[in-house]
Amino acid sequence: MLPRAWFRQLVLVVLVVLAIAAVVHARAVQDSAAAVQDSMRFDVSWIGAQGRIEAGQLEAKVALYAALRRPQDARAAEMFYQILLGRLDSWNVGGYRDFLQASPPSQQAYDELQALLTSVEAEFTDLTKVDDMPALLERLSPVSSIIDRIGAEASISAVAKAAAIRDTLTERQTIQDYLVTTLLIAAGVLLVLTALQNRNLRAAHKAVQQASERYAYSARHDPLTGLPNRTAFSHPDHSLFRDMANRRAAVVVIDLDGFKVVNDTWGHIFGDKLLTAAAHRLRDLVGVRPGNVVARLGGDEFVALLNVSDEAEAVAFANKIIEALKRPFEIDGSVTTIGATAGVALAVDDNWDTLSLMADADLAQSHTKSRNKGTVGLYDPGLRERVERRLTLENQLRTAIEKKEIFPHYQVQVDLQTGALVGVEALARWHHPQLGLISPAEFIPIAEASGQIFNIGKYMIDCACRDALRLPANVPVAVNISVIQIMQGEIMDTVAEALMMSGLAPQRLKLEVTESVMMMDRRRAIAVLSELRYLGVAIALDDFGTGFSSLSYLSTFRWDELKIDRSFLQNLDTDPLGLSIIQAVLVLARKLGAKVIVEGIETDNQLQLLKKTGCHVGQGYFFGRPAPIDTVCELISAMPPPTSAATRRKSDSTR
Ligand code: C2E
Ligand code: CA
Ligand code: CA
Repeated sequence: MLPRAWFRQLVLVVLVVLAIAAVVHARAVQDSAAAVQDSMRFDVSWIGAQGRIEAGQLEAKVALYAALRRPQDARAAEMFYQILLGRLDSWNVGGYRDFLQASPPSQQAYDELQALLTSVEAEFTDLTKVDDMPALLERLSPVSSIIDRIGAEASISAVAKAAAIRDTLTERQTIQDYLVTTLLIAAGVLLVLTALQNRNLRAAHKAVQQASERYAYSARHDPLTGLPNRTAFSHPDHSLFRDMANRRAAVVVIDLDGFKVVNDTWGHIFGDKLLTAAAHRLRDLVGVRPGNVVARLGGDEFVALLNVSDEAEAVAFANKIIEALKRPFEIDGSVTTIGATAGVALAVDDNWDTLSLMADADLAQSHTKSRNKGTVGLYDPGLRERVERRLTLENQLRTAIEKKEIFPHYQVQVDLQTGALVGVEALARWHHPQLGLISPAEFIPIAEASGQIFNIGKYMIDCACRDALRLPANVPVAVNISVIQIMQGEIMDTVAEALMMSGLAPQRLKLEVTESVMMMDRRRAIAVLSELRYLGVAIALDDFGTGFSSLSYLSTFRWDELKIDRSFLQNLDTDPLGLSIIQAVLVLARKLGAKVIVEGIETDNQLQLLKKTGCHVGQGYFFGRPAPIDTVCELISAMPPPTSAATRRKSDSTR
């Protein structure tokens, strides 16, 4: 392709050539016209020839008169004399004079002729008066030869002039030829240049079109994975769904779990490859059905638009997506595993818009991620309200302790046989000024997610240690500890400080942890729990039987107590299986050297059954609801005094 600057210069050159050619052409045309005019004006030989004829006539008439003496011949001779004089005068102007001046012999002959004619002027005034006609004839005899001399010169001059004009015209013709050739070449060059320019323009047009297509593509696609982006996803083809009877649109928002760790550990290039591989897996899985679209929203977040028949199908598909993403990825020779959490939102009718569905699915996703990572959550109309409430609680939780809105209630634990007090469990309460009493089942997970659990946990331990001093001697207090507190490790200092500040004997403090602690970093958990145990603090395994971890952890740590979850008591009257499980746990606990506490005893019937089974310690509404320490102290004063069996021997605390 010709560079633009070059092209401009070339066109300029061609135009200059054309302009010069036009000027030269105009000059040549002008010159040729002048030459043609010259050729028409300059027939000197012809003008001279007229003189020769007139001279011949003069001589003939004079000779006739000399012979016959007729007066009419004399008049005719006089007339031809005058004509010849007039001819001589006519030779002395214009082109003929130019010729005479240019030809000295002709000028000499002219002058000679003029002198000769002037010398006979008197005779021709009246020829009849001339006597010696022969003498006059004799004197006139050179006239014709003089005119012949001039005529010959004029003829030569006319030929030369004609040759000069021919030369000029030939020269102009050559110039014209060159001009025409130049013009043709210039026109050819211009044509070629125009063609070239056209080709360039077409190429430029194509390039612009391709660039705009590329731009349009990149505006709607994610450059890393090649999937459609948020913009493209926001405008799907609704007609695909309308045309299909009994089909509904479902949006699934998918967020990878643990991607940040992979990205931080293995670097961004590896992270990018992982995202691309995940995107391809999603595309292969989702794109199989018409109307289905999968897009990348940014970061490790993807979204799919599915064409489903009902809610169950949407959730099943979302689960398939999660399963696909959980399969190991092989990148650069190393195998990596991540997970994903999904949120699903379904269109209720044909009037759905992607952005609203996306917002709903996103909410379901983030809500699910905060509770059950790696699973699928379905949007329901109440979810937004719940999430907003959660957000409000999360914000206000920060100042709740300062405002003394969070405080402990205590629930008694009793000897099932004697009804004597064997311990209390501290349970956090939040009295919200506007929302009323908020269950720890609701605010503890929020505190765990937001990190407020450390403040709350420390506050509860401090309160429990201090309040335990108001209980009968040797009655221990149990405090619930979050798995996050164990993993963070600060728990040791917190517990030691609380014991030291309150002066409570470590043996009177019991910490309750759930099985989930063993699902995290088990070695670390065991290390921290062992250290706490070494302090003299007892460790209870809370909600035993509700977790999903293997029972192997039972043998890797010396639990002081197993707390049987109240869910096993729910159908105790009718379902003998619940009782069998409790019996089995009792046997297991005995082997492990741990005590057993049954939670959630609500009825006398349950109590009797448990007593028969061999359970010794329990807690539940039957004995008392969780209450402020003052209320509990009052309740305790009416109970049988604690027996020595209710306290734990120091020797139990270490293995
Ligand atoms: P949990 O440790 O299993 O506590 C027992 C829960 O059962 C308490 O609920 C208690 O009020 C309730 N309960 C006791 N007896 C009965 C009964 O006879 N029937 C029924 N239906 N329920 C009974 P609460 O106080 O709502 O606590 C819920 C959960 O919140 C606790 O379960 C515990 O996991 C957690 N939690 C409470 N306080 C704290 C705390 O200070 N720190 C931590 N990390 N978790 C806490
Ligand atoms: Ca508990
Ligand atoms: Ca429990």
